[in-house]
Amino acid sequence: MTPARRYAALSSLYSIIIAFAISTETRASEPKIKWDEVQQEALNLFVEYLKVDTTNPPGNEIRAAQFFGEICKREGIEHKIFEPLPGRGTIWARVRGNGNLRPIVLLNHLDVVPHNREYWSVDVFSGVIKDGFIYGRGAMDMKSLGMAQFVTLLALKRAKVPLKRDVIFLGTADEEAGGLHGAGWFVKNHPELLERAEFLFNEGGNNSVDPNGRVLAIGVGPSEKTPAWLRLTATGEPGHASVPRPQSAVNRLLRALNRLLDYTPPVELTPVVEQAFKAMAPLMPPEQAAKFANIREMIKDPEFLRQLEFDPGARALIRNTISITMLEGSNKINVIPPAAIAEIDTRLVPGEKLDNWIAEIKSVIKDDSIKIEPILAFEANASPIDSALVTAVAAVVKKRYPEAIISHPVLTGFTDSHYFRDLGVMSYGFSPFVAPPRELGSGYHGNDERIGKKTFVEGVRFFYEVVERLAK
Ligand SMILES: [Zn+2]
Repeated sequence: MTPARRYAALSSLYSIIIAFAISTETRASEPKIKWDEVQQEALNLFVEYLKVDTTNPPGNEIRAAQFFGEICKREGIEHKIFEPLPGRGTIWARVRGNGNLRPIVLLNHLDVVPHNREYWSVDVFSGVIKDGFIYGRGAMDMKSLGMAQFVTLLALKRAKVPLKRDVIFLGTADEEAGGLHGAGWFVKNHPELLERAEFLFNEGGNNSVDPNGRVLAIGVGPSEKTPAWLRLTATGEPGHASVPRPQSAVNRLLRALNRLLDYTPPVELTPVVEQAFKAMAPLMPPEQAAKFANIREMIKDPEFLRQLEFDPGARALIRNTISITMLEGSNKINVIPPAAIAEIDTRLVPGEKLDNWIAEIKSVIKDDSIKIEPILAFEANASPIDSALVTAVAAVVKKRYPEAIISHPVLTGFTDSHYFRDLGVMSYGFSPFVAPPRELGSGYHGNDERIGKKTFVEGVRFFYEVVERLAK
């Protein structure tokens, strides 16, 4: 294989990011649940849920909160609906355990991203089922997982499964725009409803299945990179553009941005990322395996690093990154404006401190007159990979997919999990939907978003088995 081909092949492994393989005994779930019926009901509810338009902006998540609220009412499930701003709904529902162990939270967001109707072959909010796929905005991100979580709650309640932990369903608004009016609002205003939860399941898990359907890895994601969205404002004397001013706001800003473009942040191999890469080794040819097993040393080798960074996703895991995305100067061609603004999307490796990063940016742009303000930034924490939650997933995986290993992907993006990790809740990305890529349609935020019908109903059961195992 050419180096390019070899690293293209390797790059498909990066999505796996294995941390360790666990073996533990298996246990069958309780037989009193009639799975054929539950899965059919899950499918019907999912189709109805996809019809609820919660496009953010504006959100209107209250519709989804009420959708779940109605079912809770019918089933006698304790629940509360919140609407901190008109239309922005969040739902909390709970099935009680005996309190011997701390609660589990099943977190999902109710909102979906906008769509472009002309690129869709079906009605976006019809929930249509065609050729074995269920279509609709949110089919992947993340109404399918939200419904798997809800049906889990429903099944636990109906079967009166004796639980040691409370199981809390939390459907929140606004995740697609940062979560301030959803998860962010909830943890600030109602932390008491989480009752010192120990664990949380959220989106952000990545499974790896080869095209023949062989399951290689089930992901339980312990961490993600953290956004440090920054606004850079340059100022300068305004005037008529017929008389150029070398120190104009626009010129200053462009010089600063040019320096940023030329800058490559240093490699920082954080422990959670190191662990993820190391554990990929068993899936590689022997020569590569030895290198990845020793990645902390190998990464000092410029040739190894060059080849590793052939994959932009791998590159983003070992460095802070900078994407210049928004620019604003004059609104007239012949006017030199008093200010020019750039908004840049920078992302930090887990554990990086914002203050240090801003100091680094300042030293790169070498212009103290440019103001740097954070627009969105928070601490990036990691959850442990040897917790009872990970053990529970591994036990169920062992039974369902005996050949698969447990991987621990670190996301380059971010989810609402950070709000809960900040409170000390061990939070993980986990998806129960296990299928080759083609079965998962165009995926997150894509056109004709869809999920295989079989993949969905099997996932509902998989998710239930994991939660039951952890809560019983
Ligand atoms: Zn999502």
